[in-house]
Amino acid sequence: TETATKSDEEYHTIIKDTEKPVGESTKHDFQAETRMLLDIVARSLYSEKEVFVRELISNASDALEKFRYLSVSESESDKIVDKDRPLEIHISTDKHNRTLTIQDTGIGMTKDELIQNLGVIAKSGSKAFLEQLKSKQGTADSSIIGQFGVGFYSAFMVADRVDVYSRAVGEEQGYKWTSDGTGTYEIQPAEGVQPGTKIVIHLKSDCREFADDETIRNIINKYSNFVGSPLYLNGKKA
Ligand code: ADP
Ligand code: MG
Repeated sequence: TETATKSDEEYHTIIKDTEKPVGESTKHDFQAETRMLLDIVARSLYSEKEVFVRELISNASDALEKFRYLSVSESESDKIVDKDRPLEIHISTDKHNRTLTIQDTGIGMTKDELIQNLGVIAKSGSKAFLEQLKSKQGTADSSIIGQFGVGFYSAFMVADRVDVYSRAVGEEQGYKWTSDGTGTYEIQPAEGVQPGTKIVIHLKSDCREFADDETIRNIINKYSNFVGSPLYLNGKKA
């Protein structure tokens, strides 16, 4: 029916800019190990930079999985504000602004979780990566990025800035996390943050190819089999 088509379109809209940072911004230092990792990642000449797309999609997928789990677990059910929200991943490309954006309607992060999860290395892959690096006394070539996978931080292979907007389940307040991947990051409360997480990758000038719809569609097609949630690229099912 016409109604269904309409709501379908609204449902799968292209990502909107609704966020507005408000209030005080606080500056934080990355943990020393994170800084070391970021340094290598940012300077990497690793040829398969596209793996960052897989890493971010996999994080979005994990976040949706966590939300799903929470929404069926009794004890936490009173925390869920919007049980009916679509559980989806949306990606958009913007050549003009040279950005790639990935948004999920998953579990989201509180301010403390932004600090803990994006500022401190807990991930075993990243830890192994650092061990390898230390054992080679910093001379390890960047191919080991692909070997271990560096998760969220892989975004800094292609980005000169990453903005993360996140609002955790049951929270009214959302936050903006931003970093250029050198040493520090900033966190600021923001209005208009949708429940879940939205990551805006500001691409380096030599990585503009990742702001191209077709390029991203091809990359997604390589990995989409492993994604357990609907995935849309520029409003179109990917
Ligand atoms: P891993 O996924 O192996 O834990 P990552 O570096 O990819 O390592 O991510 C670090 C952490 O950041 C995740 O464990 C998760 O807690 C948090 N995170 C990253 N992306 C998201 C997201 N889209 N939604 C919620 N949490 C996220
Ligand atoms: Mg991950």
